Amino acid sequence: MVFKCKSCGSCMVYDFDKDVLVCPNCDSVGDPQTEYDNKDDPDICPICGGQLNLGQYGSARRCNYCDSYIVSDQRLGGNNRPDAIIPTTITKKRVFELLTEKFKNYICLIPEVFSESRLKEVIIEYVPYWVYAFNIKAAYSGIIKESVTSGNTTVTDTYSVVESWNFNMHDVPVDASEKMPDIIMDELEPFKFTEKLDFKPEYLSGSESEIANHESDHYKEEACYKVAGSVYDFIYDELSHTYPHAVNLSSGTVSKDTSLDITTAGAGYYLLPVYKYSYTLRNGTIYDYYVNGQTEEISGTAPISESRLWTAIAATVTAFAGVAALITTVLMLIGGAV
Ligand SMILES: [Zn+2]
Ligand SMILES: [Zn+2]
Repeated sequence: MVFKCKSCGSCMVYDFDKDVLVCPNCDSVGDPQTEYDNKDDPDICPICGGQLNLGQYGSARRCNYCDSYIVSDQRLGGNNRPDAIIPTTITKKRVFELLTEKFKNYICLIPEVFSESRLKEVIIEYVPYWVYAFNIKAAYSGIIKESVTSGNTTVTDTYSVVESWNFNMHDVPVDASEKMPDIIMDELEPFKFTEKLDFKPEYLSGSESEIANHESDHYKEEACYKVAGSVYDFIYDELSHTYPHAVNLSSGTVSKDTSLDITTAGAGYYLLPVYKYSYTLRNGTIYDYYVNGQTEEISGTAPISESRLWTAIAATVTAFAGVAALITTVLMLIGGAV
């Protein structure tokens, strides 16, 4: 669907600060005229008839032909309707400020990468995640040796330790979008789930989004793996605290000596805010940037100009050569020729 301004016909976008659709053209708020998906093919823009290229999972994007923001009511219907969305709290301008600040100490940056004229290329993407809740029973059973040295005497004690814990863990996110790189999505965590809102389609007007690429069962193993890591860390900390002189305690022994019983208590389908920006150098090198639209966590590398870098290195080498020649001349003059 498309949310059109009744005053001027422009496409309205959702403003989370004002909590309403606003028209970027005439500043009208709320009360849109809603146009629904093309019935035969949701991949056809209902405004201009252009191809949207939503792909297999796309649910919201801008039409390249008429610039309308399309939120697909067909794609987001039934089981594909998200439970909740976490809105972004930062602007595109803020994204460039953060990236400029992060890379300010690098030499030979390409200055135009984060220039204001490129702001329109920054995209807010609401990434589908499955967010799990788990009940976990953990049981540790192992031998812990403590060794304490006092003067010339070393006393070693051996303990047979059996302990168990029950945990309820919630808000464990796993990204459900194959196009978003898993390692980068992990880097951008955590998200603040307390700020989630019940989903409404108009929230996506002005953004890009996908539906979850698979059901929650598909990602459950990955979520369990994440949870297990956190539980092992907790048990390691607990045992290290109780047995501060332990000589055989490590993350490896804790995971080996701990059994886990993890049961799923629930799974919610959320959309989480990630800014995307991509810059391609003339030589084809692509710099991709991702920013958590809530916590401002950044993923991406400094956009370095190789030609500028080589010029700087050449200048430095020339300067050093000049200094070396000067030192040699001075040494010769004072009779200490090398
Ligand atoms: Zn308007
Ligand atoms: Zn269009």
